[in-house]
Amino acid sequence: MFRFDASTEALAEAVITYAIERTRLDPPPLDGPRSAAELRAAVGSTITEQGIGGLEALRLFADVLAPASISVDHPRYLAFVGTAPTEAAILFDLVVGASSLYGGSWLEGAGAVFAENEALRWLADLAGLPPTAGGVFVAGGSAGNLSARVAARHHARMVRPELAERRLTVIASSGAHSSITSASKVMDGDVVKVSTATGRLTGGELEQAVADLAPAALDRVYAVVATAGTTNEGIIDDLAGIAEVCGAHGWWLHVDAAYGGAALAAPSARPRFAGIEHADSFVVDPHKWLFAPYDCAALLYRDPAIARAAHTQHAAYLDVLTGGGDWNPSDYAYHLTRRVRGLPFWFSLATHGTAAYGDAIEATLALTVEVGELIRATPFVELVIEPSLSVVLFRRLGWGPDDYASWSDAVLSSGLTLTVPTAHAGETCLRFCFVNPRTTLDDVRMIIDSLA
Ligand SMILES: *Cc1c(COP(=O)(O)O)cnc(C)c1O
Repeated sequence: MFRFDASTEALAEAVITYAIERTRLDPPPLDGPRSAAELRAAVGSTITEQGIGGLEALRLFADVLAPASISVDHPRYLAFVGTAPTEAAILFDLVVGASSLYGGSWLEGAGAVFAENEALRWLADLAGLPPTAGGVFVAGGSAGNLSARVAARHHARMVRPELAERRLTVIASSGAHSSITSASKVMDGDVVKVSTATGRLTGGELEQAVADLAPAALDRVYAVVATAGTTNEGIIDDLAGIAEVCGAHGWWLHVDAAYGGAALAAPSARPRFAGIEHADSFVVDPHKWLFAPYDCAALLYRDPAIARAAHTQHAAYLDVLTGGGDWNPSDYAYHLTRRVRGLPFWFSLATHGTAAYGDAIEATLALTVEVGELIRATPFVELVIEPSLSVVLFRRLGWGPDDYASWSDAVLSSGLTLTVPTAHAGETCLRFCFVNPRTTLDDVRMIIDSLA
């Protein structure tokens, strides 16, 4: 340990070769889970007093553990929200790992933080936030949504001191992500979920829901969470209408664009985000549809000073960092130590340019339209709702929940696809979510054919 000697040299060669070969695979194997007991039997003891050696640990990973872990960048991984990192982003992740960078403070990470901020600036500009906007890369949309709401609550209690002792409420649409409810639990607060006619929360529906609240409930509201691309259906709320209601009440507008925000870079989709420029904070995950490896979520604030006031940690040994007016990423979310997880995203953006990102997202949007047409043209399947962004919900005629579940298991085992059932309006159905520009219509045709 702690010496770059001949055996380290051999290990470096093996590890780098593995990483290059894995990056080259097109497509990688889909792979799939095995039980802990099977894995235990296959790998034996890996943590031993004398160590098993790096080459042996790498062999176990390559032969047993990696094949038991699904490749989320497989072009027929269409479940949940996958990711499809660019080669440039993956390779630079190796550099980040090798460079011992601390991303919490400007003092320690100035160069790396500067580069992360360049990438954040691009996202802020896409949303139309002012030049003074800024934020930080956090681990995921969940962490971003929580941190934004902590800032929003802090601000609300500053400007409305009567809120200090109250349990507080946010309003969100019924399609909002599960992390919104989860954050409320962490914050000991509540969510009022507004049901919508179409899945898209409009300003009018929000206004009506607000009018229906009892005065005591209304007095506890401090923020509205709008969703720009619901996870299950890809629906973008009426951001402009919601922003107007927030403005009238003095509420913070947080836009959860963890999945859908990538489409801000696609000229054909950008108009559907009208109003996002009014957001007080917003979240978009480059590790979903912006081709970055895990874990990478961008959290942006219109007024970063509010986030700083809410999140800066104080201690005798930290004041040297926080006193000087430097840009310290630690100050903008619930965290202190952080990996500069935005760097692989920055490197890839710098390498390829923003136009390539727009093109890649447009390609996924176009594929989604083609898949909608394919489903319409196929007699044994049917769209459940019109595809939105890159999400397609469809049913296999005549099937119930058990049919979907056993089909999904079988096509994972055979290596065809990870496509899992979801539900819409109480009905079990299938869901595709396209984020991988390597996915082709032929890939999808193979999956649809397997439903015959
Ligand atoms: C995925 C998603 C989240 C959660 O993001 P993580 O990165 O998984 O924590 C939040 N909101 C929406 C709309 C999402 O799609």
